[in-house]
Amino acid sequence: MEKTICGKTVSQWRQNPTIADLMDVKETFWLNPELTKAEQALAQASLSMADVEDAAARLGRFAPYIAQAFPQTAKAGGLIESPLRSIPQMQQALSRQWGLEWPGQLLLKCDNSLPISGSIKARGGIYEVLKHAEDIALSQGILSLEEDYSKLNSDEMRKFYSKYSISVGSTGNLGLSIGIISAKLGFRVTVHMSADARQWKKDLLRSQGVQVAEYPEDYSKAVAEGRRQAEQDPNCYFVDDENSKNLFLGYAVAALRLKGQLEEMGLEPGPERPLFVFLPCGVGGGPGGVAFGLKLVYGDSARCFFAEPTHAPCMTLGLASGLHDQVCVQDFGIDNKTAADGLAVGRASRFVGRLIQPLLSGSYTIQDQTLYRRLTLLADEEDLWLEPSALAGFDGPRWLLGSEQGRNYLAEQGLTDKLEQALWLPWATGGSMVPREIMEEYYRQGRE
Ligand SMILES: *Cc1c(COP(=O)(O)O)cnc(C)c1O
Repeated sequence: MEKTICGKTVSQWRQNPTIADLMDVKETFWLNPELTKAEQALAQASLSMADVEDAAARLGRFAPYIAQAFPQTAKAGGLIESPLRSIPQMQQALSRQWGLEWPGQLLLKCDNSLPISGSIKARGGIYEVLKHAEDIALSQGILSLEEDYSKLNSDEMRKFYSKYSISVGSTGNLGLSIGIISAKLGFRVTVHMSADARQWKKDLLRSQGVQVAEYPEDYSKAVAEGRRQAEQDPNCYFVDDENSKNLFLGYAVAALRLKGQLEEMGLEPGPERPLFVFLPCGVGGGPGGVAFGLKLVYGDSARCFFAEPTHAPCMTLGLASGLHDQVCVQDFGIDNKTAADGLAVGRASRFVGRLIQPLLSGSYTIQDQTLYRRLTLLADEEDLWLEPSALAGFDGPRWLLGSEQGRNYLAEQGLTDKLEQALWLPWATGGSMVPREIMEEYYRQGRE
């Protein structure tokens, strides 16, 4: 009998052209047929603007602590934020390479240079640990909401937190952010890492007093082990990357910050000025949280797309099949092996796929070799240095402007004559922690 995946044979699945492309690890572009008016979709969502504002307020309470504990954030008043940059040379260079006219303005959200852990995980990961630290201290009556949280930067408080532990499963960057902030607060912390995690990340964590457990399997296994160990210890808190609302909300705060930055640049997205955002996607929490926040802020004017490696397209697979976390890429014969280690995830988040389904405009996949080429081009044109995962967002405009599907989409949405005003925003999700020799190796790969 022919093998089936969730009740359908491989040849039945292949009748869906997106799924056939994914199975063939070909670069592909998927437009979401279930995209709904933002207002309607958000009214039915399990989270709201009040939740995002609550998270932003919590980060505000912690700002005095962060400013002291991480002096590199002092100038920004203890807010962990990254610049928004216009990158016209990259836009020209890509437009030449693609042979496409590219109206509108290319901007880059530089989360590669977020302080403390150098990736988008400094948003969600740090937020979740701070929230946990606040919850414990409030419930034990040793902190109040009105107090100056810089008091957490003391031996007494570190001793208090050392009775508690934190564990997380990670391909690398989430482990870095959870490990660094947890160790700084005084928690005992274990990071469970998958085979694809880079050695330098493990070394860096160990140097900060973080326990690193290593597994030869992939990310899902590292998460499962982390969860299992935490279940055995009531004082251990497990950061659940596959299912955490707190991580998600920490990421979503980025949208409020971006709004302020766009206003400062005199750029206000709206019906006459579409904002296209392209977000590298692993398990989905980071890009999902940011996209959710942007839909809350800009409604239908924000058009969000996810970008995944051809060898690890778990979210596109989950959305296009409608099966979300019920399937993993391996079920479809896709190997989950990619140089984009931040995106090497075989199974999408349980709740992000469902929450984002009516809000996401679409997604696409990209080959590793393309990521390297974009990496080298961006370094040459703009002197910006990203890790491979973080380049995935750059090919969104190519699909929208250069493919028949993309051009039809723009026409149907009434956008074709609004592109002169458009803002194109790939989200640069990581890079500044990558050691120089390794970055040079990436750069060489893009040259070849
Ligand atoms: C984690 C990560 C992502 C994606 O975030 P998810 O929450 O896993 O979807 C993208 N880029 C980099 C560099 C990352 O570390």
